[in-house]
Amino acid sequence: MTSTTPAAPSANVASASIPVPESWIKVLPQGLYVEPGDFFVDPVRPAARAVITHGHADHARPNNERVLATPDTLAIMRARYGDAAGASLQALPYGERLRIGEVDVTFVPAGHVLGSAQAVMEYRGCRIVASGDYKRRADATCAPFEPVPCDVFITEATFGLPVFRHPPDEGEIARLLHSVELFPERSHVVGAYALGKCQRVIALLRKAGYDEPIFLHGALIPLSNLYQELGVDLGDLRPATGLKKDAFVGQIVMAPPSAVADRWARRLPDPVVCMASGWMTVRQRAKQRGVELPLVISDHADWDELCQTIDDVGAPEIWVTHGREEALVHHATSRGIRARALAMVGFDEEGQGEMPEPPEVPVRGGSPTQGELL
Ligand SMILES: [Zn+2]
Ligand SMILES: [Zn+2]
Repeated sequence: MTSTTPAAPSANVASASIPVPESWIKVLPQGLYVEPGDFFVDPVRPAARAVITHGHADHARPNNERVLATPDTLAIMRARYGDAAGASLQALPYGERLRIGEVDVTFVPAGHVLGSAQAVMEYRGCRIVASGDYKRRADATCAPFEPVPCDVFITEATFGLPVFRHPPDEGEIARLLHSVELFPERSHVVGAYALGKCQRVIALLRKAGYDEPIFLHGALIPLSNLYQELGVDLGDLRPATGLKKDAFVGQIVMAPPSAVADRWARRLPDPVVCMASGWMTVRQRAKQRGVELPLVISDHADWDELCQTIDDVGAPEIWVTHGREEALVHHATSRGIRARALAMVGFDEEGQGEMPEPPEVPVRGGSPTQGELL
């Protein structure tokens, strides 16, 4: 195909016949295998060569031998895994091209979390884009998703049902701030995943004009610090440690989802339990988790964003990796697009690459550990 996108196929491949996608990218138990490059994309088990789309724990796993990722994703992996991030780490900035074996690889922003990338792979005139996880709405903490025309678009479908329509973030943040105003004698504890969601909620609060200090559970500190080091301004952040209960009256405290409804949160003054997640559209889930103020804020594309993206990339074929695959496959097929569900295992049903809950986050350098208290 011809294109002016960041990774236009090279001209000298036109003579050979264009390979069938399935002939060079395969689903193996270890993950998506790119045969002519001899590498895996986001392998679920350690691989000799891994191309990593982003830092969430179900995509970036430790102990691969050679790792290729964006500089920010590598920084996140190092912060999380230390030496286990990989024996050899190679950074590839957005828009730069690298040949691995016979495959040209380019990273293009996915708009999911800091450093997140779609892997654009080209082999003999065939271009396949593995999007990793992505979203389409604005996020001040990472570069926005860029649609890349391609022959096959590999997509997630975490929220791949028409019932999933995420409201505007600003409205959700306004509800939180309204509650803070209504209950000045209480604290607000907001459950958010350590990578991406926590920092995005903070950025949204800042954008809405909230400039009070925001307190962080120990498990959220290392990556929030890293975001700030990497140039994402999150304002005045303070550890929720070593302070008296009174210090949190009228304040917002960020915590991992697992901590908001347990003993940890009970040390806060009469906490309003909030949770920022795409799953908060499902009332039952909010109720089960004891969430008083559900905030529908997701780092994954909702149904409309998935459909929009399929239109935008214009691929004649899509592969759906994980999530609610059937509806999206049906939607694509009804529009004349070939579609198949890869039914890949190892990606969290909950859509939680977002999931790295504290036990998975090795906290280095004497930072507070999960469960360590106020
Ligand atoms: Zn994921
Ligand atoms: Zn993710």
